[in-house]
Amino acid sequence: MTHELIEKSKKHLWLPFTQMKDYDKDPLIIESGQGIKVKDIDGKEYYDGFSSVWLNVHGHRKKELDDAIIKQLDKIAHSTLLGMTNVPATELAEKLVELSPDNLTRVFYSDSGAESMEIALKMAFQYWKNIGRPEKQKFISMRNGYHGDTVGAVSVGAIDLFHHVYGPLMFESYKAPIPNVYRSETGDPDRCRDECLAALEQLLKENHEEIAALSIESNVQGAGGFIVMPEGYLAGVRELCTKYEVLMIVDEVATGFGRTGKMFACEHEGVQPDLMAAGKGITGGYLPIAVTYTTEEIYQAFYDDYQSLKTFFHGHSYTGNQLGCAVAIENIRLFESENIPEQVAKKSEELKGILEELYTLTHVGDIRQLGFMVGIELVQAKETKEPFPAEKRVGYQVSLKMRELGMLTRPMGDVIVFMPPLVSTADELKAMVAIMKEAIDEVTTGEL
Ligand SMILES: *Cc1c(COP(=O)(O)O)cnc(C)c1O
Repeated sequence: MTHELIEKSKKHLWLPFTQMKDYDKDPLIIESGQGIKVKDIDGKEYYDGFSSVWLNVHGHRKKELDDAIIKQLDKIAHSTLLGMTNVPATELAEKLVELSPDNLTRVFYSDSGAESMEIALKMAFQYWKNIGRPEKQKFISMRNGYHGDTVGAVSVGAIDLFHHVYGPLMFESYKAPIPNVYRSETGDPDRCRDECLAALEQLLKENHEEIAALSIESNVQGAGGFIVMPEGYLAGVRELCTKYEVLMIVDEVATGFGRTGKMFACEHEGVQPDLMAAGKGITGGYLPIAVTYTTEEIYQAFYDDYQSLKTFFHGHSYTGNQLGCAVAIENIRLFESENIPEQVAKKSEELKGILEELYTLTHVGDIRQLGFMVGIELVQAKETKEPFPAEKRVGYQVSLKMRELGMLTRPMGDVIVFMPPLVSTADELKAMVAIMKEAIDEVTTGEL
């Protein structure tokens, strides 16, 4: 039976971000989950060390979330949001606005983080057209940034490995440097921040008249290797966007919903974006809902008689799906009743201490953490920060070893990703870090 399913998966499936030759060698089929663990079809259990790709909040099979979906199912599963709304989509909109930075008053739903960014880009573009400044058509994006995999989101992304091949398909965007303190010349966070802000200001000074918006991940670049931006950087970007009349699009898809110890990571810096994308944790990791937040000012630029053709002509079949919105509402209720962001902030201090001991390993070069978002960069030599040769796929080998030891995650190159569900307890965090330690040690020993 088990074997049959594996054969089927190899015969018909094509998995995202996966070299299928790797999958065929090490197949895995998950059948169930409970709390912060998942179980495969052979009954082997694994810690969900990456929250099923950065989504999960309260663990799997959280009773309240299961019940919210069942309750909604008794009424209706889906009706459209084109020209009308539904009950949970409406209730959720109010909740979402309550949670967000004050200036964000409107929400536009979609089904994935990439779409929520795509929508933010199109809104920014059309905003300037609608208010009579159509010359503002270009974007600034951050080097090493990631915003999802649709063509628009890829155009403002800048991870060579994923994005290079699609070059001819993309619209052009100006790229600004990102403050990567570990890889900076001096390693001084203030200096690194100031240099990057100065470079951004130069870019804005020269080109702001044709620039519609700037896109940036909120405080941490996720897929780019868990680059935590130095204090003051995001706030500095906000100031420059305001000064040069460029809309600021903040991508909270990975960082939003408590992941960094605040509801949204931009709160660490008191930043109010003009547009904000969120997804991942919004339904606790249950169903595909995403949201683009915007200000009343941007909303008003689209609000007019139909004949003015200022309508935002964009939407998806499943936009505002009732089941998804119902579970998102319950997820937010749990955030409040269980004080999730405060809990994460508190536990992440403990986690910092637990992670310290990984530095005793020969090949752990840098540990970057904001809340429950952790990247552990493995290097060939600590003193020189020299990376391992890419063809050794050290990060990938470590993740396979971790799987053997009972924990799932996916590395970004040689950065080991640790994104546990937000409800993980101190003991569970310790157990997971111990598995990472053993796996890193075993794989990198002898890799001198
Ligand atoms: C995951 C992610 C996205 C894309 O979200 P999907 O739901 O996978 O389309 C966009 N931006 C960031 C920062 C992400 O981490």
